[in-house]
Formats: sequence, C-alpha cells, structure tokens
Amino acid sequence: MRIGGRRKSAIFFLTFGICLVVIAIALNVGWVLLNWREVALLVLGIVFFILIITGLVLNTTFLVREIRRNEQHDAFINAVTHELKTPIASIRLYLETLKTREVDEARRAEFYDTMLADSDRLLGTVEQVLHAGRTAHKRRPINVTRVDLGQLVRECLELTRRRHDLDEEAVRYFESESARGAGVAGDHDELRAAVTNLVENAVKYSDKGVRLSVELDAPDERHVAVRVTDTGIGIHRKQLKRIFKRFYRVPGHFMARFKGTGLGLFIVRSIVERHGGRVYAESEGLGRGSTFTIQLPRL
Ligand code: ADP
Repeated sequence: MRIGGRRKSAIFFLTFGICLVVIAIALNVGWVLLNWREVALLVLGIVFFILIITGLVLNTTFLVREIRRNEQHDAFINAVTHELKTPIASIRLYLETLKTREVDEARRAEFYDTMLADSDRLLGTVEQVLHAGRTAHKRRPINVTRVDLGQLVRECLELTRRRHDLDEEAVRYFESESARGAGVAGDHDELRAAVTNLVENAVKYSDKGVRLSVELDAPDERHVAVRVTDTGIGIHRKQLKRIFKRFYRVPGHFMARFKGTGLGLFIVRSIVERHGGRVYAESEGLGRGSTFTIQLPRL
C-alpha cells in the first residue's frame, strides 16, 4: 500500500517536473521572440533558463532516488521481520507439541533437528543484520593474519554440505596447481563469511537441484580467485551490478519464492574491498546459472 502510494507520488513529481520544463521552454521561446534584439538580456535569460532546468532535473532525480531507497527499506524491514518471525513461530509450535502431547523417540529427534535448523536460520539472519551494521563503519579494525584460502574454502564447503545435507557430487571443488596453498592477508572470520555467503546463495538460488562447482585459481602471480558457479536461476544482465547494493533484491513475483534480506552480497563486497580485492557476478542470463568471483591480492 505504502509502496503503491510512493510510486504514485513519484509519477506525480515526474509529471510535475516535465510540465515545469515544458512551461520554461515555452516561456523562454516566447521571451526570445519578443526580445531578440536585446542580446545581453537574451544571454542572461538563457543562462538563468539553463540553471532553472538543471535545478529541476537534479531535484526530480534526487526525489525519485529517495523514493526508490525508501521502497527498498520497506522491503528490507518486511523481509527481516518475516525471516525472524517464521523460525520463531515454527520453534514455538514444536515446543508446544512436545509439551502437550506424547511424542515417540524418533519423532522427538526429528523435532529437535527441525528446531535446530530453525534456530540456525534465526541466528543467520541476526548475524547478517549485525554484520551489515558493522560493515557500515569503514574504519573498523580487522584482525589480519595469513589465511590459507584453499583451506578456508574447503571449510565453508564442508559446512554447507552438512547444513543442506548435500553429497560430494552436488558441491565439487577444484584447485589449480598455481593456486595450491595460496595465502592472503586478511581476517579469517570475515573472509569465511564472504565465501559462505556466496556458497549459500548458490544453493538457495538453485531451483532444480543443487549442482555447484567451486574453484580456487590464480589468474596471475599477484592474485588468487575463488569462483562459485551454480546451475540455478541465473541473473539478468542489467542486474549483475545492482545485486551488490545494500538491501537490493532482484524484483519480481518469481523472487518471492526465495527468502532473503538483500544484505548478503553487500556484506561480501564490503569485506572483499576492505581486503583490497574485488567481487563480480557473471551469468549467461535467466535460468542459465551464475558465477561469482572473489579476487584477492596474494601474499
Ligand atoms: P538475498 O539473497 O538475501 O536476497 P543477497 O544480497 O545475497 O540477498 O543477493 C541479492 C540478490 O542477488 C538476490 O535477491 C538474488 O536476486 C540475486 N542473487 C544472489 N546470488 C544469486 C545466485 N547465485 N543466483 C541468482 N541470483 C542470485
């Protein structure tokens, strides 16, 4: 409702802006025709006219950008509320059942597993929000040590396999000869958070069965890269850069199936940039999988 209202006001202000531009042009043309002999005034008038038009265009652009940002904040609050409420409601339900009914041992174990998975999800969301908050402080100190990137990636993959009950075939790992044992100077926990985010996204956005390949490679002597490729829903060319913005989620009904906060890739980008590296996405298009690459300076 609020988003609809904002969109209406955006349309109103856009139309308003365009009308003002048209009126200004009409005035200017009329004015020029009437005063064509008075050159000095003409020049002055044109300068003012250009200033007014520039002001109007800047004003309208700023307004539209603000409205878009507010829409994203609303969507973020909705997504986070949902992500917090759903696992809590689920845990509550299982606890109530355990309290009020006789449940056999096998079902009880199943309930405990589901509750654990729900609390993991809850913790994941809270950690992501906290992490995004911390990331906003650019001068925050990081704990720099030598990190063996290959080992770190293998740890992340093991965790994801366990969390989603995936076999070796579903998540394959390759390491090029030149990248074996490559080290980077960085914060182990932060880098693990970045790689985990990419791998978890690759699993989440694989709609027809998980098939991931994760590669450790050395594109040149001074860099080392982690490449996460999935065979999932893919990304439209226009979205490849936008997805790294804070709160940004690809719009559309299709996306409603995939829950999230729009913070993950923003966190990844912030971490990677703080380590002097870069991260980028590639995709052949919708339905054709995606590849995310983190490139870091090698020690
Ligand atoms: P979230 O997953 O919580 O929405 P992210 O910041 O991790 O937030 O991702 C932003 C958007 O990028 C997602 O909403 C999704 O549309 C797109 N995206 C991220 N990873 C992938 C992927 N592996 N395949 C397809 N789309 C992706």
